[in-house]
Amino acid sequence: MRVGILAVQGDYEAHADALTRLGVEGVLVRKPAELEGVEALILPGGESTTQMKFLREEGLDKAIREFAGRGGALFGTCAGAILLAREVRNPAQESLNLADIVITRNAYGRQVASEIRQGTSQLGQGQLEMVFIRAPVIADVGKGVDVLAESEGRAVLVRQGKVLVATFHPELSAETTVHAFFLKLARNGH
Ligand code: GLN
Repeated sequence: MRVGILAVQGDYEAHADALTRLGVEGVLVRKPAELEGVEALILPGGESTTQMKFLREEGLDKAIREFAGRGGALFGTCAGAILLAREVRNPAQESLNLADIVITRNAYGRQVASEIRQGTSQLGQGQLEMVFIRAPVIADVGKGVDVLAESEGRAVLVRQGKVLVATFHPELSAETTVHAFFLKLARNGH
């Protein structure tokens, strides 16, 4: 399976390393044509406003929507979660609307809430390390969205069909539980 990593900005190399630990070589995606033959795409953390600007400039916004339309699997972490959301608030910004969630960007005041937490998840691997860096908050989830992990009473890992969204950074932890789950989701659809 070809797994793409959106590489316009942010910590895409950390995702490539996480995939390498699972024996998968990620393909860096910077142009729409590079999505050809890709079955799963990771949207990394970083700065979502800058990322969205690049996506529009390169026509990748449309290309990613088409990718989702032909059944491609998507995994967004932090800024990537913001890009996938149906609606983004505080401040509002354009997003791809590929997951039925509402995201609040500056929920912690000044984007300074950065910490490492441990939590349980539905992925069945005991405790999960969750690295939060100026993390956005999932303020609302639609009916078709499964909450796979919560932290401090809020959804932090959710799934809708073949779209996986984390407000934390699994790519910055040594364990590969979330990436392994995503690869399985991309392969089997569940
Ligand atoms: N808050 C950032 C944004 O709005 C995301 C932070 C991150 O990806 N670590 O893009």
